Amino acid sequence: MTKLTLEARMGGAWRMKAGQTVRVINPYGTQAVDAWALADDGAETGHGTCDYSSMEHTRSVNSSIYLDTGLAVMGMDRRPLFTMIEDSSPGHHDTQLCPCNGPLYADLDQPPEHRSCAGNFHDALSQIGLSMPFTPASLNLFMRVGVSPEGEILRELPVASPGDHVTLRADRDIILVLSACPQDVTPINGPDCVPREIELEFSEVQP
Ligand SMILES: [Zn+2]
Repeated sequence: MTKLTLEARMGGAWRMKAGQTVRVINPYGTQAVDAWALADDGAETGHGTCDYSSMEHTRSVNSSIYLDTGLAVMGMDRRPLFTMIEDSSPGHHDTQLCPCNGPLYADLDQPPEHRSCAGNFHDALSQIGLSMPFTPASLNLFMRVGVSPEGEILRELPVASPGDHVTLRADRDIILVLSACPQDVTPINGPDCVPREIELEFSEVQP
C-alpha cells in the first residue's frame, strides 16, 4: 500500500491500473475533494482527447444525481472508469456543481492567484506531462448539494465525520486527478471556511 497526503488547496494526478483501488480519507470530515479520471488505455473521444469522466453520462447511466456505493463514474463512451466500492460517510456525493474556477473566485472578489479546483486539475496534469484543452465537470466527493422540490440547488454544510473515507476502484487503466478544494469564502468545506488536507491509500497494482 502507498500512503500519501494531498495537501490543503492542492491537486494531484496518479496512474492507476484496472483493479487498483484508492481510499480517500477525510481526516476532519469537512473537506470536499473534486475528482476526475482520464482513460489511460488508449480510449479516445473522437474529438482529439483521451476519454474522460463525464458527469452527464454518469447521471444518465446511474439514474442518480449523486454518486454512492456501487455506482460508477462513466467516460464519454458510457463505460465505467472507476467505481465507488465502499463509503463510510453519509454519501450522496455531488455530480452537479462545476469545479471551483477563476471566474467563480472573481465573482467572490478574490485575487486572480486564488487557487481553484479547475486550476489544480490542469496543474496536476502538467506535472505528469499531460494537458487537456478544457476542464471536464468534476465528481465532488464529500460535497453536499441538495435539490429543493422546486429545483433550487442547495449548497449545504458537509456531513461526513472525521476519518470518513470512500474507496474507488479503477475499472480500466486510468489517470485519477484529485483536488482538495481550496474554497475558503463559502462554507462548502465547513462553517469555518478552512480548506484541509486529505489522506490517500493506494493499493498495490495487481499482477
Ligand atoms: Zn473547489
